[in-house]
Amino acid sequence: MIQRALVVGGGVGGMSTAITLRKLGISVDLIDLDPQWRVYGAGITITGATLRAFKALGILDAVAERAYTGDGIQVCDVNGNPLHLVPTPAAVGEDTPGCGGIMRPILHKILSDETLKLGTQVRLGLTVDGINSDAEGVDVRFSDGSTGRYDLLVGADGVFSRVRTLLFPDAPRPRYTGQCVWRIVAPRPASITRRHFFLGGPAKVGLTPVSDDEMYMFYLETTEKRTPLPDEQLPQELRRLMSGYGGILAELRDNLGPQSRVVLRPLEGFLLPRPWQKGKAILIGDAAHPTTPQLASGAGLAVEDALVLGEELAHGISVDETLVRFMDRRYERCRLVVENSLEIGRREQECAPAEVQTRIVQESLQVLAQPI
Ligand SMILES: Cc1cc2nc3c(=O)[nH]c(=O)nc-3n(C[C@H](O)[C@H](O)[C@H](O)COP(=O)(O)OP(=O)(O)OC[C@H]3O[C@@H](n4cnc5c(N)ncnc54)[C@H](O)[C@@H]3O)c2cc1C
Repeated sequence: MIQRALVVGGGVGGMSTAITLRKLGISVDLIDLDPQWRVYGAGITITGATLRAFKALGILDAVAERAYTGDGIQVCDVNGNPLHLVPTPAAVGEDTPGCGGIMRPILHKILSDETLKLGTQVRLGLTVDGINSDAEGVDVRFSDGSTGRYDLLVGADGVFSRVRTLLFPDAPRPRYTGQCVWRIVAPRPASITRRHFFLGGPAKVGLTPVSDDEMYMFYLETTEKRTPLPDEQLPQELRRLMSGYGGILAELRDNLGPQSRVVLRPLEGFLLPRPWQKGKAILIGDAAHPTTPQLASGAGLAVEDALVLGEELAHGISVDETLVRFMDRRYERCRLVVENSLEIGRREQECAPAEVQTRIVQESLQVLAQPI
């Protein structure tokens, strides 16, 4: 078994890796570029497979206590009239529900508490400037000039990964997909008992409950890449975009005002070709397979990456063989999520009929529910 690991990036994937490796008795240093180790305040959707991964990581009870969990996606027209229900399968062999939602800061708190409790050494405001693997380990030069030697380095530093650039300078860069996502958090009315999609308008719009009394809305705008807008202009612009919607979406639109916290992000995604490892370093999560959110699986995949890495390390084989086995287990599943999410995004941009958009969601969720 290896003795020392460095995790670069303290997001969902990095913290899940730290938790998993600490449980194996490995000494873990985790660094994050952000001196405050913050996370922005939107909600995320979780699938049945993600709930299974949370269970394996040991955080399902803490998540379920503060999140929404339930089943199914109600598909509606632009006025909120129900069209059909997309089933959300529970992960095979689990008694957990098929989906859920949680506020990102709450998930971050659960994961960071667990990361620290298990004895990970966390250093903030720090990145890596140099990585050099040899037959026995990997030497690292940190951005504050200090150095370290580890048996394994895990690059979990997200979509614009510096570790990826250091390991694979010629790797493809994330590409803008043609959509921007607008998100707000709002009080959850009693009528919203599950996830919703609103299809048939100029954009795909969705709601996900994130707790007993809150939900978040996303609005997927098809557009040229936007130049960033000042925060105070975002509510007004979202109001304009949502002008053609009725029902609950009209209520949400009409409540948008200077007090609203609107988050706008361009969607970028790509799949890094194999391998994701070089020497004793490996990329996981968005550093390797940044996906657009159409299957709501990016965070879940990052947790699964950590779990699979832990399972393979537990065999006590060499790091090189461990990383090859990791790649064999992860590549196809991550490829499916990235490529199908991009395909769903294309259908959304073409304003394809509701069934054409939701069929691929349903099929993908069935596959993701299978054991990893
Ligand atoms: C708009 C949007 C909506 C999404 N919605 C969902 C959803 O509903 N459900 C879902 O499952 N997934 C969703 N995702 C995907 C999900 O957010 C990501 O897949 C997930 O956060 C990946 O985790 P990660 O740990 O790999 O990366 P991140 O969560 O991005 O974490 C990376 C960490 O690395 C740190 N870092 C960055 N650069 C450096 C550096 N150079 N050195 C050190 N540290 C660094 C950052 O500060 C951060 O803490 C969404 C993504 C987007 C863009």
